[in-house]
Amino acid sequence: MDKKISVVVSVYNEEKSLDEFYREAKRIFADLSWDYELIFVNDGSQDGSLDILRRLAGQDPLVKVINFSRNFGHEAAMIAGIDYARGDGVVCMDADLQHPLECVQEILDRFEEGYEVINMVRTKNKTAGLIKNFTSAAFYSLINRVSDVHFEPNASDFFALTADAARVLRENYREKVRFLRGYVQNIGFKRTTIQYEARPRFAGESKYSIRSLMKFSINTILCFSDLPLKLGIYSGVGVAFLGLLVMIYTIWTWAKYGTPSGYATIVVLLCFMFAVMFLLIGIIGEYIAILFAELKDRPVYIVRDTENMDGEKKA
Ligand code: UDP
Ligand code: MG
Repeated sequence: MDKKISVVVSVYNEEKSLDEFYREAKRIFADLSWDYELIFVNDGSQDGSLDILRRLAGQDPLVKVINFSRNFGHEAAMIAGIDYARGDGVVCMDADLQHPLECVQEILDRFEEGYEVINMVRTKNKTAGLIKNFTSAAFYSLINRVSDVHFEPNASDFFALTADAARVLRENYREKVRFLRGYVQNIGFKRTTIQYEARPRFAGESKYSIRSLMKFSINTILCFSDLPLKLGIYSGVGVAFLGLLVMIYTIWTWAKYGTPSGYATIVVLLCFMFAVMFLLIGIIGEYIAILFAELKDRPVYIVRDTENMDGEKKA
C-alpha cells in the first residue's frame, strides 16, 4: 500500500453526524486498497462539531482538521480541503452520510483503471422534495443552454480527482464567485461517472435554503455565461422592430383618420422600454459586482488553526 487517498469532508454544524461518520469511515476504509487520510474542514460550526473533531484528531493521526475562522461556505471548505490534501487522489464528500462511504473503493478502482476525474452522479434523491428536484432539473437545462461548457445534471458535490487534476483546481481556479462542480466538469482529463443513490441525511437539516440556492444558481449562470450581457443587443433589436411596427401603424391611422391620438401608445411604450432598460442595467450591475469581488481579491477562506497537519499546505 503506497498510494494514498485524501478524503475531504466539509463540516458545518454536524455534531450529530460526525461520530457516526467517523465510525463508518473507519469500518469501511479498513479494507480500502489505498492508504487514506480524513481531512475534516470545520466551516465555522457554532455547535460542538469542532470539539468532536479535535477529540477524533487527538486519538487518530489519520484524522486531520482544518479549522476556519468563520463560516465561508461549502465551496470554500472543499477548496481548502483540496489545497491541503497530500494524497495521490482527493475525494470530496459531505459529513451527513448522504454520500455512501462504500463508493470510495469504487473510486479507487476507477483511478487504477486510469481515470483522473470521477463525477458521482446521484440516481435519485429521495430526501430532496419534489420542488428541489424540479428546480434542480430546470437549473441544469437552463445553464446548459446558455453556457458553452457542459454541466452534468445531478452531479453532486461528491467527486474525486487525481493529484494532477486537483493541482489544476488549486492553482488555476481561484475565482471568488465560484462553482466548484462546474470546474470539476470542465478541466478535461480522463473522466468517468459513477452512479450512486443519495441517502437521507443522517441527522440535522440541510444547510442550503431555497434563497441561498437561488443566489448560487444566478451566480453560476453569470460566471459561466456572457449571454445575459448580450441581452442588451437582443432587446435593442426587439425594441427597434416594435418601434417600426408602431410607426407603420401610426402612419396608417394618420392616412386614414387624420391626426392620430397617441397618448396611450406613448405610455405603454415608455413603460415597456424603461422596464427593459432597468433590467439590463441590473444585469450589468451583477457582473460589476462579480468583477468587484474578484478585484478586491479577498481570501476564499481563512484558516484559524489545524490539527495533525504536518507542514504547510501545497498551495
Ligand atoms: N456545509 C459547509 N458549509 C456551509 C454549509 C454546508 O461546510 O456553509 C457542509 C455540510 O456540513 C455538509 C455539506 O456541506 O457536510 C453539504 O451540506 P448539506 O448537507 O446541508 O447540503 P445538501 O446535502 O442538502 O445539499
Ligand atoms: Mg447533505
